[in-house]
Amino acid sequence: MKVARTIAETRSALEDVRDGPIGLVPTMGGLHEGHLSLLRAAREECDTVVMSLFVNPAQFGDEHDLASYPRDEERDLALARDAGVDLVFAPSTEEMYPAGFQTWVEVTEVGSRLEGAFRPGHFRGVATVVLKLFSVVRPDRAYFGQKDAQQVAVIRQMIRDLALDVDLRVLPTVRDGDGLALSSRNALLTTEERKRALALPRALATKDLTAARALLARSNGLDVDYVEVAEFDPPVLAGAVRVGSVRLIDNVVLEGDSK
Ligand code: AMP
Repeated sequence: MKVARTIAETRSALEDVRDGPIGLVPTMGGLHEGHLSLLRAAREECDTVVMSLFVNPAQFGDEHDLASYPRDEERDLALARDAGVDLVFAPSTEEMYPAGFQTWVEVTEVGSRLEGAFRPGHFRGVATVVLKLFSVVRPDRAYFGQKDAQQVAVIRQMIRDLALDVDLRVLPTVRDGDGLALSSRNALLTTEERKRALALPRALATKDLTAARALLARSNGLDVDYVEVAEFDPPVLAGAVRVGSVRLIDNVVLEGDSK
């Protein structure tokens, strides 16, 4: 497995493998089974698997959230190697946002609701970094998790609007045994906070907006940002809560399969 720190290295490493499909799995590290499910799918479907590892400052509004985001590159690289990744693109912030950077991608409607309303600028940061990753790697397929349903909707819209030549692959949400959706931020929860956080997946599992809101209203020790039905493809019941200093999002698919 090769680790590339620069755009130039990444492009030159991929020069000779363009005859077969290239899969890209964008991550911010803190790898868990959710990420690994994307890497496995990419490994099965593509000749070359590229994982990006970049905590994208542009998608964080909150300095504390960015500073506390779990980072353990050595562990992430070992897990990527075990998952059969061919190339990890792990750039510095300066490599992705060189001095004078001023071009942004804004998916205006889909990116402004729900998460976009609570985290202004979040999806602008996401869309911009994903487009840049697409431009650097030029993948045939890009793999994302249904866990971040609105992120998928934003990227799908961007691919359509900008006629990007990439096949979007979406994999189901991976959960812990107790129902909590895996997230790198779960590592920041205390045992007590984690117990309280379980109200979110339990509420969403009702697949009923009124029941979910009622259940969360009865739960102690967590602040609800929103619980909404979102008409994404497929439609989801989505929610976001804050437990202590950690903000968690989750969703369940309301119809069709879990893609
Ligand atoms: P992140 O490192 O949090 O930016 O996530 C990288 C990718 O992994 C995104 O496409 C996420 O949607 C996906 N992902 C994160 N958590 C999960 C999960 N529990 N199940 C499936 N995919 C996930």
